Amino acid sequence: MKPPSFRYSSPATVPDAVALLVEHAEEDARVLAGGQSLVPLMNFRLAHPGFLVDLRRVPGLDSIRMDGDVLVLGAMVRQSAAERSAEVRVAAPLLAEALGHVAHPPIRNSGTVVGSIAHADPAAELPTVALAMDAEMTAVGPQGERRIPAAEFFQGPFTTALASDEILTEVRLPPFAGGHAFVEFARTHGNFAVVGVAALVAVTDGRVTRAAIAASGVGPTPVRMTAAEEALGGAVPDSAAIGAAVDAGTAGLQPAGDLQGSAATRIDIARAVLRDAIERAAERAQDRR
Ligand SMILES: Cc1cc2nc3c(=O)[nH]c(=O)nc-3n(C[C@H](O)[C@H](O)[C@H](O)COP(=O)(O)OP(=O)(O)OC[C@H]3O[C@@H](n4cnc5c(N)ncnc54)[C@H](O)[C@@H]3O)c2cc1C
Repeated sequence: MKPPSFRYSSPATVPDAVALLVEHAEEDARVLAGGQSLVPLMNFRLAHPGFLVDLRRVPGLDSIRMDGDVLVLGAMVRQSAAERSAEVRVAAPLLAEALGHVAHPPIRNSGTVVGSIAHADPAAELPTVALAMDAEMTAVGPQGERRIPAAEFFQGPFTTALASDEILTEVRLPPFAGGHAFVEFARTHGNFAVVGVAALVAVTDGRVTRAAIAASGVGPTPVRMTAAEEALGGAVPDSAAIGAAVDAGTAGLQPAGDLQGSAATRIDIARAVLRDAIERAAERAQDRR
């Protein structure tokens, strides 16, 4: 399969890349990162950008660094590089765990962490992690730079708060002192999950002091499970408390049914995956003492 014809440029700086997006706005110019979502969409004629702005030659965008206690991944950090990074394992073990579920190694060798977040597939792992971790995305456009919290970033399926002339230059992941777990149900390992849950749980003196939980596959965007977080607050994370959190977290869900599963099946799976994720995160939180 071949994509529709398009023009292409690989600028050397972020301002040049932004200028190209502005200049070619009428051609539906798009950023090209790892190409693992955009190129298949073009090949299937589901996306028709007339101009691609490739970020590959912009220096510095592939860096993984700490800014104080915040982990910062540049826009061209490949998923496999993040997966191998000791800094990521220490500062964001939830992300490290989730990366192992994204597609297969050859795809992770090209696909970027930030590209997955920008693509905003409601079934994808990394937007869900970004939401649970209260990540911030740094966007650069003609008006300058701004930071967009994950809670405001994901607006619908494949739709974000990013303007068409803005580029994400990095994702910023604040620390979480506690346990983590990324659990998903996929029909085959490496396939997009039917439902995935990213959970962070902090426990002090046997009680939950903080929980941050998000799920994929249960709505048009990744969904923050605030009711489950609130149900866990102050509780001893035993089976009854986790059961109550699962009830609370899944009560308002209205997933759309599709070929992967009906709405009711998705809720059943979400209940099982959510329980598993909270249990594992709470256990790990208590192992940290
Ligand atoms: C066979 C296969 C299986 C897959 N399985 C999974 C899976 O199980 N889970 C999963 O999460 N993903 C999966 N993916 C998708 C993969 O993770 C992609 O790499 C990822 O979704 C997009 O990252 P990318 O760097 O390839 O972005 P691209 O494909 O280059 O871009 C994707 C979109 O994001 C925009 N974009 C990218 N970077 C930026 C930026 N810095 N600023 C602004 N806009 C930007 C592009 O313009 C485009 O619209 C799979 C892909 C394939 C081909």
